Amino acid sequence: MDRDQAPILACPACGGHRVGRLGGNNYYCGDCCLELLLHPSRGRIELFDIDEEGNLTAVGTRRVQERHPPVH
Ligand SMILES: [Zn+2]
Repeated sequence: MDRDQAPILACPACGGHRVGRLGGNNYYCGDCCLELLLHPSRGRIELFDIDEEGNLTAVGTRRVQERHPPVH
């Protein structure tokens, strides 16, 4: 078990669970092929479409579905 569990457990766009971490706050959904950029302090996830040339196009934002309220 990885103690540093990924905060994105399911893709906010398609609901798929094939979300992998690219590093930092960047994630990738293997189901809908969107890149997900997490903004933890804002509780939001930006969604980016990736074209054939690797360019990112913002396609929207979603709220992070928090199971545990942040403790500060
Ligand atoms: Zn997805």
